[in-house]
Amino acid sequence: MAEVSTPSQVLSFEEARHAVERHAAGVRPGSLEFLPLLDSQSRVLAKPVTADRDYPPFNRAMRDGYAVRAADLAQLPTALQLVGEIKAGAAPETLSKQIAAGQAAAIMTGAPAPSGADAVVMVEYTSLGDGLVTVTRGVASGDNIAPAGSEALAKDLLLEPGTLMDYAALAVASSVGQQNVWVYQRPIVGILATGDEVVELSAQPGPTQIRNSNSYSLAAQVRASGATPRMIGIAHDETSHLRELITEGLDTDLLLLAGGVSMGKYDLVEQVLAALGAEFFFTGAQIQPGRPVVFGRLGEKYFFGLPGNPISTMVCFALFVRPLVDALAGRTPQPLIFLHARLKSEIRVKTGLTRFLPGFLSGEFASAEVELARWQGSGDVASTARANCYVVIPPDLDYIPAGELIAVMRK
Ligand code: AMP
Ligand code: MG
Repeated sequence: MAEVSTPSQVLSFEEARHAVERHAAGVRPGSLEFLPLLDSQSRVLAKPVTADRDYPPFNRAMRDGYAVRAADLAQLPTALQLVGEIKAGAAPETLSKQIAAGQAAAIMTGAPAPSGADAVVMVEYTSLGDGLVTVTRGVASGDNIAPAGSEALAKDLLLEPGTLMDYAALAVASSVGQQNVWVYQRPIVGILATGDEVVELSAQPGPTQIRNSNSYSLAAQVRASGATPRMIGIAHDETSHLRELITEGLDTDLLLLAGGVSMGKYDLVEQVLAALGAEFFFTGAQIQPGRPVVFGRLGEKYFFGLPGNPISTMVCFALFVRPLVDALAGRTPQPLIFLHARLKSEIRVKTGLTRFLPGFLSGEFASAEVELARWQGSGDVASTARANCYVVIPPDLDYIPAGELIAVMRK
């Protein structure tokens, strides 16, 4: 194969992320499936879920207490005549039950408020004796009652297409009686490892070989993003084998290559892709780990060339691959959001790269603290496996003192 030069385009972290997001915005998801509600978990909704009736369907008591007429409580304490009890699920006649001036009915959370009452007094502010309820705290008209239709009216849109079916979305779909929902099919993401030194798990590695771990971490990240991984195998550092497996890998919705994108003589991935006619949107990002990351398109298919160092592969997936997987899965674009935590011990680094270093997040509630994991560089999988986050160090700082708030990305 004739050598094809690939113009190098190294972007800042933010530029590279935005480039991926721009392309993701133009990606269309695949076909639809109608799944039983529980099977839709972690899928993306493809058709709207709407309200089948008003919500709540009746004026619903929001507290345990007494249904009253607020105007009766102008003077406190006030004794009201107890005229009944309304349970959740009470007979429909309850809806038109009258509460006359000076009366109250015991009512439970979730029960229909009778039309004659306009508020619920919490049981905590009452005492009961001799058929009378003594109320010690006033209420305004409407207090502790969710009016019919206040959450949604019949036919209102409750879940838009593009919504990830998480537990709350499942609750919404069940509340409107959708036993099945329309979701997008999971995209198929091809995973192609490269490297003459890399062998399959089933093989006994020779003294200079290592086992393929990138295909497994990537497959797990693909699955966690709601897509289906397809293992394409391990390509030798040799153009014809690379070309053969890349071509096979293009029979998926998105191809991820691991390794072979650095500056070494046998890093041939970009060359082979270029010879196949690929266009490149970036061929590097000012980050560590993961600097040689590549993003491009071959025909209609997007691909990423991820650096082979295991942590680089993992970090680049989280930073750049995720928006494209989301788009192929039909999900509404999600911003990459970093949390902030107080740094436990100072950090010194060289400037110029945005760094994503394995770290430990600790503390609780509003007092998050973070420290760097001790690691031996971007091949140290075990220390990253023990870490629970990446500490994000901006490119312009060479020193961050202990006690500073610092950005953190959850693992
Ligand atoms: P490369 O990006 O091909 O230069 O690889 C960088 C480093 O990552 C080398 O030390 C490789 O041996 C290692 N590496 C490459 N591919 C894999 C893989 N699939 N699993 C584990 N380590 C890998
Ligand atoms: Mg290699």
